[in-house]
Amino acid sequence: MQTHSYQISSILYDYEKYKESSVFGRIVKYEHIRNYLNKSAEQSSLDFKSIGLSYEGREIHLIKIGKGTTKILLWSQMHGDESTSTRAILDLINFLTMSDENNQTRKDILHSVTLYIIPMLNPDGAEIFSRRNAQLIDINRDALSQQSPEAEILYKTKNEINPDFAFNLHDQSPGYSAGMNYKSSTISLLAPPFNHQLEVNESRSRSMKLIVSIYKELTKLIPGHIARYDDEFEPRAFGDNFSNDGISTILIEAGGWTNDPEREFVRKIYFAALLKSLLSISDLCYQKEKLEDYDNIPENKEILYDMILRNVSIGKAGKSFYSDIAIKHETYYDSERNKIYTKGLIADIGDLSTFFGYEEFDMFGYNLQLPKFTTQNNITINDYHNNGILFVKKKIGKINWTEQPINFYSTLKPSPELDVDLPANFFLSTCNKIRYIVINGYLIDSNKSIRFNGNGIVYP
Ligand SMILES: [Zn+2]
Repeated sequence: MQTHSYQISSILYDYEKYKESSVFGRIVKYEHIRNYLNKSAEQSSLDFKSIGLSYEGREIHLIKIGKGTTKILLWSQMHGDESTSTRAILDLINFLTMSDENNQTRKDILHSVTLYIIPMLNPDGAEIFSRRNAQLIDINRDALSQQSPEAEILYKTKNEINPDFAFNLHDQSPGYSAGMNYKSSTISLLAPPFNHQLEVNESRSRSMKLIVSIYKELTKLIPGHIARYDDEFEPRAFGDNFSNDGISTILIEAGGWTNDPEREFVRKIYFAALLKSLLSISDLCYQKEKLEDYDNIPENKEILYDMILRNVSIGKAGKSFYSDIAIKHETYYDSERNKIYTKGLIADIGDLSTFFGYEEFDMFGYNLQLPKFTTQNNITINDYHNNGILFVKKKIGKINWTEQPINFYSTLKPSPELDVDLPANFFLSTCNKIRYIVINGYLIDSNKSIRFNGNGIVYP
């Protein structure tokens, strides 16, 4: 018999064939799902139905694939701004419903298991790229009280299907690393506990063993980037409740990867995680894993920033000192432009030797220089930078962001100060010459001409 590693690497080799091209990047909305389902209904007679309406009246769908006796319930985008799993799920459905040289693998899977997939549980949140639903409720804290229609639908569906396995699919902050090191936690896994004592019963032990098998497989693809999610008991969460109901529940979180803000590489790894889960459940090979290996998976640690500038010389009140500066990008959804912008905030200042950055720069020998303001608006961006200017007074209408490496304001003068939780705007100079420009948390090396991929802020 073929080993899973062999099967998964050959399927990943053909991944582009399965990758659903109508969804790309972090913004995935209800219309994407609806169009996908309509298209699939025509092309591959995909079996799906509506199982209820969201608070704002959008349909929530359930897709059924396979005819095996082991029942698996999966739901994604319970948090509207977490779409990596939705994209991976569509890729998985494409893989399972196509016909090619991998027919034997998909036949084996669909003969053993039946999948019940809710591809977007929170379409109202997805519409505005929000974690919460239209009532502002976090659906994953609503398993007990079920005040949101989405939570009620999920619980009802679970009761009707009575699955053997449940997959709770999410995205996590890029700020997690896998253990105490610089490697980002690209996928983190959890077998949710069912009580405060974190006891292990038969169904939870099945989840743990399955997670060990996923961990081992993904470690071959991206060594050091797989972690175990914090297992504190949360009585209001779905995973913990389903676990309590005797269903083997698995939480999967997509995390960060260098230079992958849209999480498209992460999507491929997520697809591999789902595929491995199905293979392991189908041929029961997860049962051979050792329970204690679950505890050996590195823990998710929140010690990663987007950027750390080390050993910056900072002057204050006539004196100077050396300090590290950490920068973290907060995301904001612009509904008019249907685009995500960021604020690059100073997250911490001081000795950050116990933290890591996706990007790190040793700035020893460079002095931090605060930016200047100007009302002049007929010179080039380079001229602004060369003159130490990062704030330009200019009326430019009702927008909040600019794709240029500069900040604009019209009436409210923003603070140019260096402070925790304020956007990072400063220069780094040596021998009184500006070398680096830090604009809204993005670093530009004035010696290199690279297209600016970030954004500045437009203040009111
Ligand atoms: Zn989530």
